[in-house]
Amino acid sequence: MRGKVTYVPGYPGTSKSSDKSMKYFWWRDDNISGYRHPAVLLSAPYFVKNSRSDLLIGDDVLVVGDSGGFQILTGKIDWLEPITILRWQEENCDIGITLDVPPVSSISSIPDISFVEKCARKSARNYEIAARNRRNDKLLLLKPLHGAKLEQLKIWHKRIKDIDLDGYALSPKPAADPMIFALHTIFIHEAEMPERIHVFLGSGSNIIPVIIYSSYFFKNVTFDSTTPLLRARNRCYIISFVPVTFYIRMLSRETLPSMKRLPCDCPVCSKISSAADFYKEINNGERFLELHNLFITLRYIHTLDALCDCRDSFHEYVRVFCSDETLKAIEMMMYYEEGHSVSECYEKFSAYFRFNRCQKPKQDRLL
Ligand SMILES: [Zn+2]
Repeated sequence: MRGKVTYVPGYPGTSKSSDKSMKYFWWRDDNISGYRHPAVLLSAPYFVKNSRSDLLIGDDVLVVGDSGGFQILTGKIDWLEPITILRWQEENCDIGITLDVPPVSSISSIPDISFVEKCARKSARNYEIAARNRRNDKLLLLKPLHGAKLEQLKIWHKRIKDIDLDGYALSPKPAADPMIFALHTIFIHEAEMPERIHVFLGSGSNIIPVIIYSSYFFKNVTFDSTTPLLRARNRCYIISFVPVTFYIRMLSRETLPSMKRLPCDCPVCSKISSAADFYKEINNGERFLELHNLFITLRYIHTLDALCDCRDSFHEYVRVFCSDETLKAIEMMMYYEEGHSVSECYEKFSAYFRFNRCQKPKQDRLL
């Protein structure tokens, strides 16, 4: 039996006042796009002063509240107390991610073991604070799990496994390696079989199939990314995900591509007749692009989710359209389903992980 998988787009916020931008809120019935997607991820550091009703979020919308550990660590925002975050999540979210101390300073480097151990210890302390101080059971609280290799996952998991929360938030890094996403899912399935997981930063044509397939292991899977929205803020208009992610730039009304018609029939683009229409409302062109990019992303997710009920069709689709790494990641998950242990899977497929394919990090070369 497959579980349910839900994409929760991260809302990047806006500098404009909310009454002007609410027509672009994809979670509302009356948004201007012609479709609705009732799920959104809010990052506590940016929204801790906002309530659910400030953002006109109805009761039927799934709200995931991220604690923003990564933004805090990288100095993008000020430190927030774990209790402040918890209270905000209890008031405004359906699923909350507990504050963690990620063992990375970027999303592509691989940390050493002692650093992982140190961050796991600090994170465990925050998870315990959340578990002890929670006031309502309606909010589902998830524990972030980190690890760029199997040994690291084991270390992190050992530190946090006894803390009584409602599931795991997987944080696979590097965020562009499908193999590490697959490893996280089979690892936590073998260790505990939790009912619910959330996957951080699940974006791109080669990562999303792995997350969709993980619904064979869990009852509820949610995943987030802000990429389609951020691309729009950079004026990128996504045309397709497969066979490659392809987009064009629409920088301003003056430098629009010279197409007579838009190359897309999504609900957003069907409403407007030319690229220039994106800029009809002064400075709000990127908000239209957001809704278009989000729709294209949702369509790709829908295709994969529907195909996934039939393993053969899904495998064939991934083989034709996705990277070799993605295909191997799916095959590793299938190998695990056949009854092999995670250690056996890891050994058999180890050559396909990026850390074995790429140049070693600098500090390793020096040793
Ligand atoms: Zn479109």
